[in-house]
Parts: sequence; structure tokens; C-alpha cells
Amino acid sequence: MSKLNIVLFGPPGAGKGTQSNFLIERYGLVHLSTGDLLRAEIKAESQLGLQAKELMDAGQLVPDAVVIGMIRNKMEAHLDAKGFIFDGFPRTKAQAETLDEMLDAKSEPITAMLALEVPEEELIKRLLGRGATSGRSDDQDESIIRNRIREYTTKTAPLKDYYSAQGKFKAINGVGSLEEITGRLVEAIG
Ligand code: ADP
Repeated sequence: MSKLNIVLFGPPGAGKGTQSNFLIERYGLVHLSTGDLLRAEIKAESQLGLQAKELMDAGQLVPDAVVIGMIRNKMEAHLDAKGFIFDGFPRTKAQAETLDEMLDAKSEPITAMLALEVPEEELIKRLLGRGATSGRSDDQDESIIRNRIREYTTKTAPLKDYYSAQGKFKAINGVGSLEEITGRLVEAIG
């Protein structure tokens, strides 16, 4: 059977992490979140973590080579996976192209790119709410949040065109109850 490789896409606060948890359970997929992997490096106080922390705290993207290396390692550690959910990756055209190369080499291409769409003011409200309880420093300051959204708009949102050109882009309304949004994702996966 062919593998199910899903890119879960959307701006910060769109609900990618939350919805990934439902989808990995339902389809038996491996969750690859570059944000989670980076936070694990910070917690371990590794050299990579120290460098990434400064950029993350400023709301900027970390270098492509860093996140690509992390994803490559994780994919190699799960060769027998039924498929992957890519959460927060790719975030630049270079990341998307490298991911396609890695998957093409295994003849296991991306199945679909599901883009959660949420209005900006709702994103800021959600992220400030999350920051109050999660302890994530990048969620506690509105100017850092706006910077992350700006990075998304300039560097990441253009990937919609990249996946559209491959016929893989699907927009999903990211406003509603958690169950409603999961239902929309499941329907889009088909
Ligand atoms: P959110 O989507 O809520 O911003 P993430 O956990 O996905 O949260 O990302 C947190 C931060 O980690 C980003 O602001 C960025 O600095 C860094 N990061 C995560 N994934 C990537 C990536 N693929 N490329 C570059 N930077 C990344």
C-alpha cells in the first residue's frame, strides 16, 4: 500500500499541532514537527538548540539546513512508517524542494498539503492564550507573534503555489470546534 504523507500547513496558531495529534492516531502516522524537535534541542541545551533559541525567540525562521537535517534523521529512524505528518515543515521553498527530493528518492511522494486557514486577529488571540499557560516565550509577546506571522506571510505562504502546481494543495477552514476541523481534514484526505 502506498504511504500517506501529509503536509499540515498554516500560520502560527492555526492548530497544526493539535490536529496532528488526531490524525496520527487515526491513520497510524509518524508526527514530524520541526518546532517540537527544535524545542527538544533547546531543552537538551545542545549547540544546535542554543543557536535556534535566539532566532525562535525573535520570531524568525531557523536556517533551512538545520531543520532539513533534523527531518532527514527522523525519517531515517522510521523507515517502516505508514506515512508521516509534516507539521511546521516545510516553511520555505528550499525546504519543500529538498523534501520532495528525499521522498522522490524513496518513491513515496507527498499525498496532500492541507492548509488550515484562520484570520490573523484570531491567530493572535489564540497564541497569546496559549502563551499564558504553555510557557512558550515566543507566544507571550504580541510583537514576536506578529513577526512570526510576517515570516509566514513572506516566506511560507508562497508554498501554497508550490503545492498547487503539483495539484496537492487543499484549503481547510481552521475556525470551528476541534472536532469540526478534524472532520474537514479527514474528508480532505478522503
Ligand atoms: P508555530 O507554528 O506556532 O509558530 P512551531 O513550533 O511550528 O510553532 O515553530 C516555532 C518556531 O520554530 C518558529 O517560529 C521558527 O523559529 C522555528 N521553526 C519551526 N519549524 C521551522 C522550519 N521548518 N523552518 C524554520 N524555522 C522553523
